[in-house]
Amino acid sequence: MNQYDVAVIGSGPGGYVAAIRCAQLGMKTAIIEKYATLGGTCLNVGCIPSKALLDSSHHYEDAVKHFAEHGIEVPGEVKVNLEKMIARKQGVVDQTTKGIQFLMDKNKIDVYEGLGSFKDATTINIKKNDGSTERIGAKHIIIATGSKPATLPFISLDKERIITSTEALELKEIPKHMIVIGGGVIGLELGQVYRRLGAEVTVVEYMDRILPTMDAALSKEMMKVLKKQKVKFALSHKVKSVQRRGKTVTVKADDKKGEEVVFKGDYCLVSVGRRPYTDGLDLEAAGVKVDERGRVAVDAHLKTNVDNIYAIGDVVKGAMLAHKAEEEGTLVAEQLAGQQPHIDYNLIPNVVYTWPEVAAVGKTEEELKEAGVPYKSGQFPMRALGRSRASMDLDGFVKILAHKDTDEVLGVHMIGARCADLITEAVTAMEFRASAEDIARMSHAHPTYAEAVKEAALAATEDRALHI
Ligand code: FAD
Ligand code: NAD
Repeated sequence: MNQYDVAVIGSGPGGYVAAIRCAQLGMKTAIIEKYATLGGTCLNVGCIPSKALLDSSHHYEDAVKHFAEHGIEVPGEVKVNLEKMIARKQGVVDQTTKGIQFLMDKNKIDVYEGLGSFKDATTINIKKNDGSTERIGAKHIIIATGSKPATLPFISLDKERIITSTEALELKEIPKHMIVIGGGVIGLELGQVYRRLGAEVTVVEYMDRILPTMDAALSKEMMKVLKKQKVKFALSHKVKSVQRRGKTVTVKADDKKGEEVVFKGDYCLVSVGRRPYTDGLDLEAAGVKVDERGRVAVDAHLKTNVDNIYAIGDVVKGAMLAHKAEEEGTLVAEQLAGQQPHIDYNLIPNVVYTWPEVAAVGKTEEELKEAGVPYKSGQFPMRALGRSRASMDLDGFVKILAHKDTDEVLGVHMIGARCADLITEAVTAMEFRASAEDIARMSHAHPTYAEAVKEAALAATEDRALHI
């Protein structure tokens, strides 16, 4: 039986980063993945393929709707070749997952393909696809088994017309009418992909706003923009049944007044969150406990109740984000090497890759109010920027929340072109505990979308934005 310093179960962004960092720090490392390709949800059926389709559909929308106003004439009709679009996406995924295999080889990490399960706290059985079993031993084990789409108890996902994000990345036709249950990140990103490609899209959301965990101002602006793009919304609707008959899917929900509303479409995307995935791991054999929501229970050091076993990423509490999983993978590896790393969870940014992009870090205005923190707010609209007018990306704003007395930046919320990248400035500033005035006094290149960050900081500092 091969013996390791560390064995990582699961090769998503949490697991593969943990493995690389362990190897970098001199530990003999193995990684176990049940699928033939590495990279987990994120690379195979999550972040990367969804962004590939967002990019392709964005190009199509530009060609159909915006080329003409830029003075670009396309002879003939611009058409979507969905098969080719999906194939390009798959090409991007294949290239990216192969890259992880390369990184495993480069770092001399042994890769085991098969379902890992605990025999005991230091031994893992690996059940291979050909039915054979191999066993490895490890001093330390990191559980990084991620998550799977959640559903509602009365929904039977047929994976053809009542689908999750995984199938939505592989459709063979453009839906005529896609009903999206859940106006969170997946619902809006994939809803926008198919809206751009010509589908009618209706988002049915339980709460009274989309993106309900983000700052309310972002929800409001995003909804305004998506409505302009003709996405339909049914907020405060409690879905109670989803049925398929032939090519028709019928979704029934109760509205705020308790009255039944019926939606009919040809596809229904169920995007109501994800659940931690521990099926087949046999946690009991190692004595590892889960919490009330089925997540592997960990302490502040990401250690489980069993001394040599850790857990990271989507399978533990906290935001289900690839970069959060990566930070946790690094933290556990460095702890095992005797270091004292730290993660500030408040500074993990949250991004929605629609267009305009939505991005945020730190506290929302609602959270500051609730906690009774005295704050001031500075906001600057994207449309006031020369850069935005040049590209005609006029929607959105940057909002900076700073402490009323100390001026320390407490939260930054933005929606607009390239905000997914712009948010890093806010993360950096907050990591160094910058004040709004610190940001306001930094030179920002002109013309850039980033000037909105400076202007919002000026507005928060002394209500003295320059260009509005
Ligand atoms: P995962 O990536 O889920 O990896 C877990 C791996 O463990 C899987 O490969 C699984 O097969 C394997 N595994 C499970 N059990 C076993 C076992 N017993 N034995 C062996 N292997 C096992 N996050 C972002 O930050 N940005 C985005 O843009 C983004 N977009 C997304 C889009 C979609 C459509 C989805 C679904 C998710 C998206 N996410 C995004 C979330 C992101 O994918 C997850 O937060 C991230 O993948 C979590 O990483 P992880 O390593 O914890 O788990
Ligand atoms: P989510 O938590 O973002 O959104 C789920 C939405 O469904 C919420 O708005 C919720 O109020 C709503 N909902 C829940 N139950 C409902 C019901 N019965 N009827 C109607 N609406 C209901 O979850 P998601 O969009 O499925 O995404 C799953 C996870 O994947 C998220 O945690 C997210 O962090 C991650 N993800 C991240 C990105 C990104 O970072 N860009 C992209 C995709 C997914």
